[in-house]
Amino acid sequence: MLQIKNLHVKLEEEDKQILKGVDLTVKAGEVHAIMGPNGSGKSTLSYVLSGRDGYEVTEGSATLDGEELLEMEPEERAAAGLFLAFQYPVEIPGVGNMTFLRTAVNAQRKARGQEEMSAGDFLKEVRAKAKTLKIDAEMLKRPVNVGFSGGEKKRNEILQMAMLEPKMCILDETDSGLDVDAMKLVSEGVNALRDAGRAFLVITHYQRLLDHIKPDVVHIMANGRIIKTGGPELALEVENNGYADLLAEVQ
Ligand code: ADP
Ligand code: MG
Ligand code: MG
Repeated sequence: MLQIKNLHVKLEEEDKQILKGVDLTVKAGEVHAIMGPNGSGKSTLSYVLSGRDGYEVTEGSATLDGEELLEMEPEERAAAGLFLAFQYPVEIPGVGNMTFLRTAVNAQRKARGQEEMSAGDFLKEVRAKAKTLKIDAEMLKRPVNVGFSGGEKKRNEILQMAMLEPKMCILDETDSGLDVDAMKLVSEGVNALRDAGRAFLVITHYQRLLDHIKPDVVHIMANGRIIKTGGPELALEVENNGYADLLAEVQ
């Protein structure tokens, strides 16, 4: 589903290489985790996949079901089925959460050549999905993320994800700033979306999220590269021993 080959990325403004040859293949139905020390390039990878400005791809490719993502506009990537949840969700004052969701869902349906969802159907679906994520009606009416707690923002992102039904979901540090209960809710939301036709890339600094979202494959990223790939046991190894041993192995 997602295939990243030899991806090299530098900052546009500075002569600083951040990703130095990332290779990664995620198949439909799989959950992959990327762990790694701070500054290793994890967020840069998710930003580049989302099409954020400020980064220059100097080599390599990233395809979603065979289509080159790196040549698409951000909204084309979303229409192709890519969804990214970020460490710091944006606040949108003046735009109601429900209106935002409906606009996003219908824009995506349009891009996929589908008809708009009727107001009634949308309302039914958003209410049902919000309920499972313990998002109350009040939160649906408020401006997007404005005044939301960290946990509420994360749950709101999972709601966006649930409504957009993407193929490939990338979550960057979704656990940071979450208390245990909020982390469980977010994990349950993600687990409920696990499906043979969908894949996840979960970027996390801590092993604890992976107790709730069980990954099939774990990658360790350091200094702009994936230095080791393994099963869930790799996350436990990091939890117990830190990154030092793994870093020493590759030097
Ligand atoms: P991680 O998410 O693994 O902590 P990042 O992708 O955020 O790592 O950062 C990787 C490296 O690139 C760090 O050294 C960071 O300081 C640098 N970096 C990323 N984006 C920028 C930027 N816009 N300006 C300057 N340095 C950046
Ligand atoms: Mg960081
Ligand atoms: Mg990061």
